[in-house]
Amino acid sequence: MPAGGDARRSPGRAGSVTHLMDAAPRFRFAPSPTGYFHVGGARTALMNWALAKRLGGRFVLRIEDTDEARNRPEWVQGIIDALAWIGISADDPTFEGPYFQSANAELHVAAAERLYVEGKAYYCDMTPEEIQERAKAEGVPGYAGWSRDKGLGPGPGRVLRFRTPDDGETVVHDVVRGEVRFANSTLEDFVLLRGNGKPMFLLANVVDDIEMGITHVLRAEEHLPNTPKQQLLWQALGHEPPVWAHVPVLVNQQRKKLSKRRDKVALENYREEGYLAAAMVNYLMTLGWSPKGDTEIVPWEVIEREFRLEDVTHSPAFFDERKLLAFNGEYIRAMSVEEFVAACEPWIPPHYDRAVFARMAPLLQTRVQTLAEAAPQIDFLFAEPAMDEAAWNKAMSQPWSAKLLDGVIEAYESVPWEAEALNEQWRRVAEALDVKLRLAQGPVRVAVSGRMVGPPLFESLVELGREETLRRLRAARARLEG
Ligand code: GLU
Repeated sequence: MPAGGDARRSPGRAGSVTHLMDAAPRFRFAPSPTGYFHVGGARTALMNWALAKRLGGRFVLRIEDTDEARNRPEWVQGIIDALAWIGISADDPTFEGPYFQSANAELHVAAAERLYVEGKAYYCDMTPEEIQERAKAEGVPGYAGWSRDKGLGPGPGRVLRFRTPDDGETVVHDVVRGEVRFANSTLEDFVLLRGNGKPMFLLANVVDDIEMGITHVLRAEEHLPNTPKQQLLWQALGHEPPVWAHVPVLVNQQRKKLSKRRDKVALENYREEGYLAAAMVNYLMTLGWSPKGDTEIVPWEVIEREFRLEDVTHSPAFFDERKLLAFNGEYIRAMSVEEFVAACEPWIPPHYDRAVFARMAPLLQTRVQTLAEAAPQIDFLFAEPAMDEAAWNKAMSQPWSAKLLDGVIEAYESVPWEAEALNEQWRRVAEALDVKLRLAQGPVRVAVSGRMVGPPLFESLVELGREETLRRLRAARARLEG
């Protein structure tokens, strides 16, 4: 038993992911509902989930909804749906919550008052302008404890500040980053309660974590500057701090933090565009972390078994949309045809013949990178296509274009209607005209589909049927004439 008889205390191993493991570990994901679910949040949630699952712990979902002006109930459902999509199911016994930060306001205030009563916090009546002026006059970067000894009690407009130590260091043991040292002289006496008595984020976040028995705070690195203050709060409130882990942020190609304005960051967008959850999960989890072996394509079971915070790199991770797309393509190709057809269903327009789609599916599955791309490739099988005029000009401006169409039309009037025979007859016509086979599909494809590229032609014609194929070929031939 560690010193002090406290099962959760074993300072020798502070900074390792298992150092509080005498108790069942409790991880948490604490999003602020903002209207969309950031891919970086998904990554943090997944890491918490992987560890909670592997270590036999809990994953607590806490909605940090104290910014009343910005909260909407439907966003909370959005978070739960997004989590479920990436496999973090509220029905799983590992999942706990959701809890709502706003429901705990009394606890936050009570904790703050305790700190005040114990002399660990004090009221301050300085306005931001006064603080700015004085800081400028004294040549200091910010608030320098000026109300510490005023002996003020609570009152309108007065904020409650935490008294940070003046000397020494606060050392954060971070599983990803190792020991991170903060000189206490750089830690401002930060605000716990606003002038209107409302708790600030740093306080609410810590009180909730304590209240919910959280043992592991795994979050994005952008919160690291808050961590020494939060650690001091944990201690001031009489608790051993949790295991900290700050994972590097995701950046774009320009090495800038991913932002909604610049980058595609909403998980919902990827979902709507036909990304597979499994591909997204795999991709996010292998950003800044690699599984053993030489493949990055790893199923969740392996991730859950092998993911270690200790192995996460320290540098920001490049969220490469193109690589994610390639991952998605690989995942699509790994599906059975039946799975692929079922997964495409939300993107298949109502007027499509499902049986035709299912027959064409194997040909589409090898060519698409997202589920949403599949159905549009064969739209010409279900409706008159719009003509891409550039494609028309390219395909129909050859000296042999008209002759090729004539030959194919004649052959197709009587050929057995199956792909191989259609292919053979077309080739015979092209060869007789001495046309390069690479070019000779053009007029036929453009005539029937309105486009230069698409799924394998002759299989498509089989589905389109003799009558409709001939009608379109003849129409194209007539247009060429005109
Ligand atoms: N609500 C905070 C955020 O969404 C989370 C803070 C934390 O994980 O401690 O950024």
